[in-house]
Amino acid sequence: MTDVSERPVAARLGAVRERIAAAARAAGRDPAEIRLVGVSKRQPVAAIRAAIDAGLADLGENFVQEAVAKMDALGPVLGTVPGTVPRTGPKWHFIGALQSNKTAVAAARFDWVQSVDRLKLAERLSRQRPAELPPLNVCLQVHIGAEASKAGVPVAEAAALAHQVAGLPQLRLRGLMAVPPPETDPARQRAWCRQLAELFRALQHDGLALDTLSMGMSDDLEAAIAEGATMVRIGTAVFGPRPAGPI
Ligand SMILES: *Cc1c(COP(=O)(O)O)cnc(C)c1O
Repeated sequence: MTDVSERPVAARLGAVRERIAAAARAAGRDPAEIRLVGVSKRQPVAAIRAAIDAGLADLGENFVQEAVAKMDALGPVLGTVPGTVPRTGPKWHFIGALQSNKTAVAAARFDWVQSVDRLKLAERLSRQRPAELPPLNVCLQVHIGAEASKAGVPVAEAAALAHQVAGLPQLRLRGLMAVPPPETDPARQRAWCRQLAELFRALQHDGLALDTLSMGMSDDLEAAIAEGATMVRIGTAVFGPRPAGPI
């Protein structure tokens, strides 16, 4: 028996995959190069389960406590043990602001942390990543745009931080992530994405083995893919509007 509430997520997921494929084709790229992370912050477990059943392999979460509660709720369904990184089922990506007092839990429970923006955070994650797990995949979050308050390492400091993070034993530096300022004009969306793509290529040229350019959300995934994104993080377009209030 299928729950009617599960249908919309599967249908939305299909539509997002088509948008990704169309954007890739328009850019002369192979759609298989682009990894879709479904951003499930504030979304209920039932919606996440529906997305997993529909084939979603990567989930993004912004709050450690909320994410761990969902992993534990989904764990039995996926045949994994609560308290450990899931052996099967989706990969979990932490994409929110990470406080120092949450790094131990993040290091133990997530497969990726995409929001590393300072050395201290990276050092804690490396030290706290359990030795029996593979190195934690990380991206540097880069501050793209004008607002001084936004998270992320400034563009001018990103190369130095990248080289430091790349040397930490229990981390694997995979690439860069950004949340550019919201824009409706596709040309302006592309201009922000291009800044991150240029930095990404410069770091590769510098000898860092990076394979992940994480940019593109529900409203700008076409622009991000046109500029070379290898990973898009899609919330609203996959799960619908985020429910208000505490989860
Ligand atoms: C919420 C969020 C997303 C997804 O945003 P949508 O506009 O809902 O697709 C992607 N990345 C980060 C870092 C987010 O916080």
